[in-house]
Amino acid sequence: MHLLSNQPVDLIVIGGGPAGFMGAITAAEQGVTSVFVCESTSKTLEKVRLSGGGRCNVTHASWDPIDLVNNYPRGRSSLFGVFSRFATADAVTWFAEKGLDLVAERDGRMFPVSNSSLEVVACLRRTAKVAGVHCLRKSAVYRVDYLKEKGFLIYLQGREPIKTKKVLIATGGHPSGRKLASNLGHTIVDPAPSLFSFKLDAFPLKVCSGVALDDISLKLVVGGKSFKEKGRVLITHVGLSGPSILRLSAFAARELHKNRYKAQLIINWIDSNYLLASELLNTCRFQLSRKSIGKANPFKKLPRRLWLIILKTININPLMRWAELSSLLEKRLLDLLLCSSYTVCGKGPFGEEFVTAGGVNLREVNFATMESRIASGLYFAGELLDVDGVTGGFNFQHCWSSGWLAGKAIANSLNSSIQD
Ligand SMILES: Cc1cc2nc3c(=O)[nH]c(=O)nc-3n(C[C@H](O)[C@H](O)[C@H](O)COP(=O)(O)OP(=O)(O)OC[C@H]3O[C@@H](n4cnc5c(N)ncnc54)[C@H](O)[C@@H]3O)c2cc1C
Repeated sequence: MHLLSNQPVDLIVIGGGPAGFMGAITAAEQGVTSVFVCESTSKTLEKVRLSGGGRCNVTHASWDPIDLVNNYPRGRSSLFGVFSRFATADAVTWFAEKGLDLVAERDGRMFPVSNSSLEVVACLRRTAKVAGVHCLRKSAVYRVDYLKEKGFLIYLQGREPIKTKKVLIATGGHPSGRKLASNLGHTIVDPAPSLFSFKLDAFPLKVCSGVALDDISLKLVVGGKSFKEKGRVLITHVGLSGPSILRLSAFAARELHKNRYKAQLIINWIDSNYLLASELLNTCRFQLSRKSIGKANPFKKLPRRLWLIILKTININPLMRWAELSSLLEKRLLDLLLCSSYTVCGKGPFGEEFVTAGGVNLREVNFATMESRIASGLYFAGELLDVDGVTGGFNFQHCWSSGWLAGKAIANSLNSSIQD
């Protein structure tokens, strides 16, 4: 092991998550000799292990940086340069070279072929070991002193401070990392949760819990702003979840946080408009005139259970024949199908990837190198930054890209100072 007490080490990475590992491995592979990862808990890469329901959604098959950045509600413009240097294809190749092949699902999410997050953890740990990265577990960093051109002093509980030339902070959404960055002179954008499901007040459809629907148009109105999404929605026992709801929660994360998760959600359940839908109901009146409304559901994408609940909500007897549908009831039915309004009253219990919006202010970071613009030799990567992605592998992609860029820049800087 490197003599931690005497000589300054080259690089201390604070945080043994995916961003920290990527930074440490890249620096070590580029010739940085003493690289240490300080991890506060007893296990590194714990979120990777838990991710994607145990499958780890490593990245997303979105190959062009221009498309890729659109999946980041915060950090979009800064990430364009980052992804131009290391994007999805680079991550896929990187993992393949380390012996881990990824495969894309139809919706673009990419998982290890084995479908096991443990393989991703094992791959990163093995690669770090081979590259000569040292991991100090149960080593929470509680203070960092900036010594200007002399580097940094890193304080760990129960140890002498360690002197290091470079520091990479990659502590994720943990408050201690934001405190370290703030003490080093950085401003912190207030943290707020992102990627959560919605709890709805008096939601009559909760009896359909477990039903998933596609092509649902959503409009969320919160604090005078509105956000739109269209796609898959899952009915839960307290409200709504699914990819489109999680996307909405991400893009509206700040406004929802500010308004204490009180908002109005307007839903078009049938991917249609008033004109087309009322034409369809009229056709039913004639062509299905003797059939009961409950049995003859013209909206094929709406499951029967949901259709019956919708009818019940507006007091339409399912045994009523189509010919008997009054214009008043038709209007009520159209209103409910095309423009249901529900009150969001909180965050639901199910999130797929719970991440933190907010963190180190992006204006204070050079995104070509991930180096601080305030303290030279200090770098950032991953969720600690005010960057977050929607669900689908985008959050890990940001970790791989920012970690790689930081590791490469650290190595370039140290290697060039040796040559000087
Ligand atoms: C349940 C769940 C599932 C997810 N699934 C996915 C998915 O499938 N795909 C995807 O793209 N994203 C997923 N995410 C999001 C993703 O896990 C995070 O965006 C990502 O882990 C952030 O990586 P990071 O390295 O920045 O931080 P982290 O993974 O949070 O790692 C930071 C590390 O730093 C350590 N640390 C903190 N403070 C200190 C300190 N002071 N000293 C030393 N160590 C410290 C922490 O213990 C932690 O190990 C998921 C998140 C959750 C919660």
